[in-house]
Amino acid sequence: MSELYLLKKAVYEANVRLFKSGLAVLTWGNVSAIDREKGLVVIKPSGVDYAALKPDDMAVVYLDGKVAEGSLRPSSDTPTHLELYAAFKDIGAVVHTHSPYATAFAQAKRPITPFGTTHADCFYGEVPLTRALAPEELGEYEKNTGKAIIEAFSGKDPVSVPAALVASHGPFVWGKSASNAVDNAVTLEEVAKMAYYTLALAPDTTRLEQHILDKHYFRKHGAGAYYGQGEHK
Ligand code: 13P
Repeated sequence: MSELYLLKKAVYEANVRLFKSGLAVLTWGNVSAIDREKGLVVIKPSGVDYAALKPDDMAVVYLDGKVAEGSLRPSSDTPTHLELYAAFKDIGAVVHTHSPYATAFAQAKRPITPFGTTHADCFYGEVPLTRALAPEELGEYEKNTGKAIIEAFSGKDPVSVPAALVASHGPFVWGKSASNAVDNAVTLEEVAKMAYYTLALAPDTTRLEQHILDKHYFRKHGAGAYYGQGEHK
């Protein structure tokens, strides 16, 4: 099996998991992954039922967006994914959903504040919100959406906070691999749900203390991580 086929299979499986996990309904949402050595991105085709998808239906595009392989039109959000791959050199996959709780924060134009350790386990700080695009930016809407996400990460590390909320639209999430990016999208939705209930119960809740945020993030990430089975698995 070729490396490209294995990537198509991984992207296909991640898209199906997005659907089965309830983060995407109908034809909403999309997952892509990049092969940086070959300069190729594999992405869900646009507007196709998840139940009907097959690995070979995945679209393959060059980094400039030109189609390299596949008979189906790539996701309408492809230019957003390509902007993120170009700017965030350490990411291997991107996920977009309209999952309800994360999208509610995006529509309310509120970043997600870290209120607890569930957030800190995956996101080392606030999940940022993009600015609204101006009318003249809509000509290249999807590309400029990517640029707005990159702008929201100015001075921030996209690896330690692997998600952004696109104002009025929904979340874009990323990770090392297609499956890791879907894990992060599942976590973001749970964290958004918890933040929603926290604010409903106690609107004045303040941000998680920095030392607890540090403890939880770094017990799972980085050189001193000790969560899980690591090498001992
Ligand atoms: P595509 O089917 O073109 O990927 O679009 C889904 C979507 O959620 C657009 O924001």
